[in-house]
Amino acid sequence: MAVIRVIVVGAGIAGPVLAVFLKTRGYDPIIYERLPSPGEGGLSFMLQPNGLRVLSLIPGLLEQIPGRSPDSIIHCSSLDGIEDILADSDISPDTMRERFGFPMIGVRRVEFHRLLIDTAERHGIEIKWGHQAIEFEQSEDAVEVTFANGAKDTASFVVGCDGLHSNTRIALFGKEKADFTGLAQFGGLSPTPPALQGKFALVNIYGNGRHMVSYPVAEDKRSWAITTREDEVKEDWKTQNMEQQNEIRGGPLSAWGFGAGDMVKTAQNIVKYGLYDRPELKSWFKGRIVLLGDAAHPTSPHLGQGANQAFEDIYHIMRLFKIYNPSAAQPSTELLSQVFTDYQDLRLPRTSELVRGARKQGEARVVEGIDACRARDETIRAGPNDDAARMASYELLSGPFKNSEI
Ligand SMILES: Cc1cc2nc3c(=O)[nH]c(=O)nc-3n(C[C@H](O)[C@H](O)[C@H](O)COP(=O)(O)OP(=O)(O)OC[C@H]3O[C@@H](n4cnc5c(N)ncnc54)[C@H](O)[C@@H]3O)c2cc1C
Repeated sequence: MAVIRVIVVGAGIAGPVLAVFLKTRGYDPIIYERLPSPGEGGLSFMLQPNGLRVLSLIPGLLEQIPGRSPDSIIHCSSLDGIEDILADSDISPDTMRERFGFPMIGVRRVEFHRLLIDTAERHGIEIKWGHQAIEFEQSEDAVEVTFANGAKDTASFVVGCDGLHSNTRIALFGKEKADFTGLAQFGGLSPTPPALQGKFALVNIYGNGRHMVSYPVAEDKRSWAITTREDEVKEDWKTQNMEQQNEIRGGPLSAWGFGAGDMVKTAQNIVKYGLYDRPELKSWFKGRIVLLGDAAHPTSPHLGQGANQAFEDIYHIMRLFKIYNPSAAQPSTELLSQVFTDYQDLRLPRTSELVRGARKQGEARVVEGIDACRARDETIRAGPNDDAARMASYELLSGPFKNSEI
């Protein structure tokens, strides 16, 4: 029986992981990536138990993840020169493993991305760099993809893992403008400041109209990001020029407590990027082409679920392929439609809820005016006793399976 070729568009975070699952379940994936080589862009994210649960299904991968687990989460207020600790909870690897089976791991995107690319290549998956997918033509049993450099390729089906600015999404559902959330972040990687030496806390600092999150990504390094309200800024993860960086380093944030000011002053490069999401789609597929990860449900980062939800998508789409196409045979368009319908019916409402939740969280974090900030701080102080929030977080981090069905 011929092995079924699948085109994965995008070698970001989701593409290589999906390709490894496809390959180990009997398909023949090939990845096409717009960039000429793995980029250096981006800062970091927090891998959470639900994402790590999916990655644990790739033997040997978890052990190689470069990064650092936080041991606590601290919420601090910095208002009118008064600094206050609002809440402090244990999220140490032991505690998280006991609750969820997996820890949290803060990773630099560049290093984690490199690991995923290496893992895909070790599985014999070809990655064609410098290939921007621009056109998709479907026939009864195949899809032909055309790239900006003139190359073409054909596969049984296509999965668009091409992120916020997905051409696959445009090809399926037309062009629409990404929604700027009204918020932007600037951030960097800095040596652990003296105030946080020996502490591996994930620290949230809430100020008037601004919020900072920082967490360890190595024994001696922390990643941080400050959210503020801004006029529209591009989502291009570009480093600010020296003058802009110096302005930030010398600005009011450099005086923040809890080690925050030191991190702003000592960051290697300060990156600034707008925060975007997109309106919920009614469907994630047409015929033999389907969307996954940010291409389907880009989100602002305030719940830390962008990459983790992409991994949940991958788990469910692979589970459905196993149910409907157990021998990885050439799928009819009807069979693909069954897989993609069940996938979107499960994942679309869930991810839409999280996209809305992330926006709400972002808004709450950067409220302006002392009274509104004090009210926010009191909600955070009461947070550890909020049963509904605790249950929601427990449910989120317990996904997407207890016993793997793939
Ligand atoms: C450069 C970069 C830096 C980032 N840094 C951070 C960060 O610091 N923190 C954070 O929380 N999130 C970051 N993100 C977003 C984060 O990676 C995603 O939210 C999340 O991991 C979901 O992964 P994804 O694979 O769906 O999307 P992405 O990781 O965005 O991957 C999409 C990939 O598709 C490629 N692509 C786009 N269009 C085409 C096309 N037409 N043809 C072929 N390939 C195409 C892109 O170049 C990219 O490699 C970054 C994204 C990028 C692209």
